[in-house]
Amino acid sequence: MHDKTLAQQAALLASGELKSVELVDHYLTRIERLNSNLNAYILVDEDRAREAAVAADARLQKGEGGPLTGIPIAHKDIFCTKDVRTTCGSRMLENFIAPYNATVVDKLNDAGVVTLGKANMDEFAMGSSNENSFFGSVANPWQHDRVPGGSSGGSAAIVAAQLASAATGTDTGGSIRQPAAFCGVTGIKPTYGRVSRYGMIAFASSLDQGGPLARTAEDCALLLQAMCGHDPRDSTSSLTDVPDFSATLNDDIKGLRIGVPEEYFAQGLEAGVADAVKTALAELERAGAILKSISLPNQGLCIPAYYVIAPAEASSNLSRFDGVRFGHRAENPQDLEDLYKRSRGEGFGPEVKRRILIGAYALSAGYYDAYYRKAQQVRQLVTNDFTEAFKEVDVIAGPTTPTTAFSRGEKSSDPTAMYLNDLFTVSANLSGLPGLSAPCGFSNGLPVGLQLIAPVNEEARLLNLAHQYQSVSDWHLQSPVAND
Ligand code: GLN
Repeated sequence: MHDKTLAQQAALLASGELKSVELVDHYLTRIERLNSNLNAYILVDEDRAREAAVAADARLQKGEGGPLTGIPIAHKDIFCTKDVRTTCGSRMLENFIAPYNATVVDKLNDAGVVTLGKANMDEFAMGSSNENSFFGSVANPWQHDRVPGGSSGGSAAIVAAQLASAATGTDTGGSIRQPAAFCGVTGIKPTYGRVSRYGMIAFASSLDQGGPLARTAEDCALLLQAMCGHDPRDSTSSLTDVPDFSATLNDDIKGLRIGVPEEYFAQGLEAGVADAVKTALAELERAGAILKSISLPNQGLCIPAYYVIAPAEASSNLSRFDGVRFGHRAENPQDLEDLYKRSRGEGFGPEVKRRILIGAYALSAGYYDAYYRKAQQVRQLVTNDFTEAFKEVDVIAGPTTPTTAFSRGEKSSDPTAMYLNDLFTVSANLSGLPGLSAPCGFSNGLPVGLQLIAPVNEEARLLNLAHQYQSVSDWHLQSPVAND
């Protein structure tokens, strides 16, 4: 049953051929057998999962369920789950029991999902390889000596290894799309503001967005539907109506104009990645889309701008972890300053400390104008590039990442090399645009991701295009689990 997509499982649940309790038991058995090699789950909550499955079956029996009722998923451990440990991958929150649910968790619960557990992640969502987790790194299910990507690496590994039907993730600079690409699954980061950030532990508030990771675009549409919507508890939550994402999946893509930025194919792109993406674009052209070469002239400035803005916001957001209000508290403090210093020194890992230092520096008097303000100005230039491009095209397409999954340990001592992984993903966050990654082939036996970016609020266009691509290709159906 694990080889079925979420939509296929939903059909079996609706017809009564499959019970949620059976599906949940099936996944729990797989997790028991396979998770120790992958380390994709930080926490598995068997009792709650079984209880929720029984409730879902009762709902289905009465004909009251929706397409997600009884579907087992994992939540990235950045989403607060009431009465269940929420760690954000950090020692700081090693024993934090959230007193409330994130809005995303509540909304998916209302839709009837069953939460199997919490997915591993880079500490406070900072990373591109899932090697920054206090709970250990995660293996890529395709090749265990490779990283799954980050920071939602646990979520992507869980979907690829079929240890849940789908998972939630968050994306500040690529953390849904990049791991989706590395693990050969589909993931979408919606428009900034589409998904509530309430109860989603903050990293960089002007960039953070939640979204789903699943096998197919069709599955993502079902999950995103339940996750989106205005939330009065998030002041940046969008008031725009949420369309029916599934309704337009089969729209004809004939005449759809796809912009292919020349900059995406110039910058140190792995040959196998370039080949797979170009083949996918040719496939879309055959399906009726029109390819157009475009330019995003400020693409080269995205990484430097992102790595000023994200740490600046992080340094501010993470000031709440002071040993008093939340999280880890040092033993026997001498005085208040000692309590702050040692609680933070012991609770945070090295990458988080690096970001706090960079961010505090960039925001400090005398440097603010030179770094933070400048980065915000660059952000506007990047956004202007997209605005110009979208006058001529409907969607922008290219590789999600410059390479396929790299080896574990390969870049962990070189932060700059690590940051360059986010070359093609951070621009969508800087501009608040929706972005999707879908599997489009392999390079040296590892999955390649095709990234699609659309104008604000046009998630439906991305899902439609990805679904059409998945109707004429089968990369999304390839799976590393055949021999597990
Ligand atoms: N890899 C990027 C970073 O380390 C993006 C992380 C994210 O999207 N959460 O900041």
